[in-house]
Amino acid sequence: MSLFDWFADRRKDTPISKERQEREIADDLWQKCPACDALTYSKDLKTNFQVCPNCGHHNRTTSEERLEQLVDLDTWTPLDSDLVSGDPLEFVDRQSYRDRVRATQAKTRLSDAIVTGIGQLRGDSIHQPIPVALGIMDFRFMGGSMGSVVGEKLTRLIERATAEHLPLVVCCASGGARMHEGIFSLMQMAKTSAALERHRAAGQLFISVLTHPTFGGVTASFAMLGDIILAEPGALVGFAGGRVIEQTIRQKLPEGFQTAEYLMEHGLIDAIVRRPKLTRRLNQLISLHQPLSSSHSNGKLTSSGSNYSESFPPPSLN
Ligand SMILES: [Zn+2]
Repeated sequence: MSLFDWFADRRKDTPISKERQEREIADDLWQKCPACDALTYSKDLKTNFQVCPNCGHHNRTTSEERLEQLVDLDTWTPLDSDLVSGDPLEFVDRQSYRDRVRATQAKTRLSDAIVTGIGQLRGDSIHQPIPVALGIMDFRFMGGSMGSVVGEKLTRLIERATAEHLPLVVCCASGGARMHEGIFSLMQMAKTSAALERHRAAGQLFISVLTHPTFGGVTASFAMLGDIILAEPGALVGFAGGRVIEQTIRQKLPEGFQTAEYLMEHGLIDAIVRRPKLTRRLNQLISLHQPLSSSHSNGKLTSSGSNYSESFPPPSLN
């Protein structure tokens, strides 16, 4: 072995480089892809919408990042950002619910698991900026669970969208209902669904975007009520988790069960859209679904209030 090879070998095996690699991962300088193990510089990953440039794996994204990806921030007006959860059951597990919410708020700098507001979708060479009512769930906040704040913020957003003739877009990411609030969390399913029905009856558009993961009471209510339902590649979407279903029905579940691709194949969703293409797709869909009588003036959507559900009645449920 030459001296050069000996040094090269030594450098390769030296524990320092491994330690440094681990430290840099710990410092969030680099991120390891959970799907292909490729290391990507965190800044590059952010520029690439948190999508692995090597294999296309969609990493989880925060509500702030998602907002930046979709909306022109100068036009963004957040709604109800001061709404915080009460503790109706005075719930305590290893920690009191009140303390858990406070700690999560401090850690995430969010008031709860959804951000709502009105803003203009980022335009492109074809589309003028379109004002939308947008809700973005954040899985970092107690698993994106839906408690009374998520339900209330979403319902107010839907009602505002209906009143102002705005298309509604909600990016879902949730483990389901927030059990710390018991029946108050379950009530949110009915409340949001009822508001969406009024939005639909007024002839207004709702696009639901399913991201990884979307489960439980969120899937069982607003997430699946979109006029158009989009999903990100590889997102797991379901009501109960696969293991629970397997144990209950005592059958092996098919390969890829509950993935966006499986749902697409079985007709539950309308399209799988890669995150970098999402804004453009939303622009296309919303432009296509604008009533003929509506137009943009001064960057604001105006509508004569024509009800285009009258011309295209929804199919009967029977
Ligand atoms: Zn990867």
